[in-house]
Amino acid sequence: MIRFKDIPCTLHDFLDIVLVHCPKCNEKAEVRKQGRKVGEIFCDKCGYYKKEEKVYFSLDFSRNCPNCGKRIAFKIPHINEKNKKDSMKFPCEHCGIVESYKPKYMPHYNINNLYISNGKESCFNTELWLQKACKGNNVFWATNFKHLEYLKQYIQADIRERNDFQRNMTMIAKLPKFIKSAKNRESLLIYKTGKTMRVNINTKELKTILDHTPTEQNIMLVGKHGVGKSKILTDYFNEKGIKVITLFLGQMSGKT
Ligand SMILES: [Zn+2]
Ligand SMILES: [Zn+2]
Repeated sequence: MIRFKDIPCTLHDFLDIVLVHCPKCNEKAEVRKQGRKVGEIFCDKCGYYKKEEKVYFSLDFSRNCPNCGKRIAFKIPHINEKNKKDSMKFPCEHCGIVESYKPKYMPHYNINNLYISNGKESCFNTELWLQKACKGNNVFWATNFKHLEYLKQYIQADIRERNDFQRNMTMIAKLPKFIKSAKNRESLLIYKTGKTMRVNINTKELKTILDHTPTEQNIMLVGKHGVGKSKILTDYFNEKGIKVITLFLGQMSGKT
């Protein structure tokens, strides 16, 4: 029996790094938040880099009506650069007269509102790297490997424990039905155990995967001869005080 216990984390906790298709070379690139203001995207493969300041404006309007003298006040919290206007017409709620006003905008930054929609992230509108179409127009996606591993632990669990103190608030609680459904378990896991999904990763990402992989799960690491696969794994486990035994297939022929 595999048991899964929901922890109080939301999708927001998995948005620190979003893996996407590079807009230039289509390989794996990363979207990251830099503080609250700036989002950046970079690609190790081709060197693509772009930075974007995500500034939004709020319109706080308050003045006396030129006709009746009473207070007119309104607030529009979320306006992007494109929708800023030089003048706006507003009716007075007291006397009904419509006047044109020059609005004032207050800038505020909210890159923290990065979200995922239709398989794309909202900062640069790039396609997520980890996504796959499933039955019935559903798309299974993850923002990064940490997210993918967490989802996998949930999907493969026979017993799914929820946390009451974060009811309906956690990332797990908000998952779409097709992921929660036990009958899709097999097809979702096939995707994630690597039979149909192959991902290219760097050393740091490999360590993240190892951090989140249960010991009973096998991982097959494929890479060119001599790039240091064995050394990375030996160092990783030695650091944790785990002994590593290396068996070289090429030296294991029947004859001795
Ligand atoms: Zn690229
Ligand atoms: Zn008025």
